[in-house]
Amino acid sequence: MTLSRRNWLKIAAGGTAGLALADLGFGPGEARAATGALKLKGTKEFTTACNFCSCGCGMVAHVRDGQLVNLEGDPDHAINFGALCTKGAAMKATHDSPRRVKAPMYRAPGSDRWEEISWEQAYEKLARKIKATRDATWTATEQDGDQEYPVNRTDAIALLGGAQNTNEECYLFNKMGRLLGTSYVEHQARL
Ligand code: SF4
Repeated sequence: MTLSRRNWLKIAAGGTAGLALADLGFGPGEARAATGALKLKGTKEFTTACNFCSCGCGMVAHVRDGQLVNLEGDPDHAINFGALCTKGAAMKATHDSPRRVKAPMYRAPGSDRWEEISWEQAYEKLARKIKATRDATWTATEQDGDQEYPVNRTDAIALLGGAQNTNEECYLFNKMGRLLGTSYVEHQARL
């Protein structure tokens, strides 16, 4: 088959490639496959997980020039075998949203607006508040009848994890909880 310049441009346009191939006599299946191949041309592929709920459905993502261009269910993933619910299927929209928060936000006391701060500023504010809370609420011992026992804890700090945390992160969460002196380490599947 020879391709005219006009038809070649139609194929290269990508979005209309499927139609162009169909025009050239390929079947719908072949046309769809060719469209997919053009859409993913030059991309890097990696696997990830849907961030919406505790099912943790696997996804395949494609990135070109640092931009996410495609996101779909991972057919090799043991949980979803390529299927996604409507939320997962629409996840790319949250990635592309101009309203997506990409940096720590801070609202100063008395202020009516949030402002973006650096991660270093956020870490410092968090560390200071955790230290102040721990110092102010520290319980070193508890009395039980005539006996006084060391307990070394605070009841004012809790850690909350979510379904997207890895085993390694959960291990570190728990370790940090012990170091801070709290046993309130909880899980919320939809975080
Ligand atoms: S695709 Fe749907 S079911 Fe799967 S993790 Fe995402 S929200 Fe949950």
